Amino acid sequence: MGIPNETDVLIVGSGPAGALLGCLLARRGIDVLVVEKQADFERDFRGESLAAPSVITLRKLGFGDALDSHGYLESSGVAMWLEGRRIFHVDYKRFSIGTLPIEFPQPPLIRTFQERAAELPNHHFAAGTKFTGLLEKDGAVCGAVLKQGDGAPTKVRARLVVGADGRFSKVRKAAGIKPRLAQAERDLLSFRLPRPADWALESELVVDHDQHLAVLPTYPDALRVSHNLPKRGLGALRQKGFDSFRRRVASIDPRLAPLVEEHLRSWDDTSFLEVFNAELDEWTRDGLILVGDASHTATPTLGQGVNLAIQDVVGLTPLIASALAKGGGDHSVRASTFAEFIAVRRMHKAFVTGFQKRQEASLAMRTPWQTVKRRTRFRLLNALPLKYRVFDKLLNTPHSIDPADEH
Ligand SMILES: Cc1cc2nc3c(=O)[nH]c(=O)nc-3n(C[C@H](O)[C@H](O)[C@H](O)COP(=O)(O)OP(=O)(O)OC[C@H]3O[C@@H](n4cnc5c(N)ncnc54)[C@H](O)[C@@H]3O)c2cc1C
Repeated sequence: MGIPNETDVLIVGSGPAGALLGCLLARRGIDVLVVEKQADFERDFRGESLAAPSVITLRKLGFGDALDSHGYLESSGVAMWLEGRRIFHVDYKRFSIGTLPIEFPQPPLIRTFQERAAELPNHHFAAGTKFTGLLEKDGAVCGAVLKQGDGAPTKVRARLVVGADGRFSKVRKAAGIKPRLAQAERDLLSFRLPRPADWALESELVVDHDQHLAVLPTYPDALRVSHNLPKRGLGALRQKGFDSFRRRVASIDPRLAPLVEEHLRSWDDTSFLEVFNAELDEWTRDGLILVGDASHTATPTLGQGVNLAIQDVVGLTPLIASALAKGGGDHSVRASTFAEFIAVRRMHKAFVTGFQKRQEASLAMRTPWQTVKRRTRFRLLNALPLKYRVFDKLLNTPHSIDPADEH
């Protein structure tokens, strides 16, 4: 499509955060332009676990019929295997939230948000369009420069630019906001395998000393498997050859051996993920705000990235709407509008990150003494009802924002 040269809100990036925000703002009658550098919504090896609070939020927002008509897997629990024994298990059905987390691929989720938004005349979407720079006036952001293919750059004026462009955000960089990166000790290599019919529908962490596999049943009929690598260890792993990698996977989880043998054919079947956690001192400037991974990148542990992004958007939508309604026609939205929102969202992110760091430290244990200690700790925790309190707080977080007035 042609790009309008003026809008109320310009959203850069149509991932879960940008696509949902565009839809919710357009529902409120706000003029929105969402730009996405990719030509389509296809994205492999991305987060597919939707936490229970996000499922509830999406239903309250009126997307329940789209979830149901597409189909999904309900995840019944989480289990941990340590050195060959199933030591720890949490049954999600015992939580009082009354909804299970689901596995739902990102492309249909984003497509649903876009299709609903496309019904509204004040929503504009430009695929294959890249953000290349910010426009500024008197110290405030007042728009952005966009580029479609080999075409000439286009300037678009906006009262608010939203950076929803993910973990390597160009909007963040252009705004001079520097993330503090905390690299995890290890990165991940992921791949898919077909799921045997009798495989339990729960997330499993299969750990052998400092090697692990996260094995997640995925809609409709696959297993999404991630294996840890030492930081910058991909080159060394590849040098040892693909057969050596397959043997390593099969030795950590022998149940996967026949599937790996038959279906994991080459490095092209794998996808590398650099694991880090990013925090920002500032999420906003006058005329600009960052959301989702652009403002806080979490590691993949327990699949909380989309949940954080959805909660950001639900909290942000009414604030943007009221700031636009109050301000004069062409003034940029003030950074101070978002101060309280950011403080609340930081607490949610800190809570998730704290758990992820402890989990990562536990998974990196390698000496015999450390692994015995870890096994004892998880055995003990497994026997205590406390585990339900810990996981309930973590997964069904009280930081969720009620979207009751959004639909
Ligand atoms: C391998 C992997 C597994 C994961 N597993 C889970 C999981 O199970 N559950 C979970 O909740 N989370 C998971 N996550 C995290 C989750 O995918 C992210 O937290 C979530 O996608 C963040 O959404 P977002 O909209 O903020 O950013 P993104 O999904 O990254 O979307 C950003 C969008 O911006 C676009 N963009 C970037 N630059 C530009 C530009 N210059 N101009 C225009 N557009 C641009 C990108 O193409 C992209 O579409 C996983 C992440 C990875 C990488």
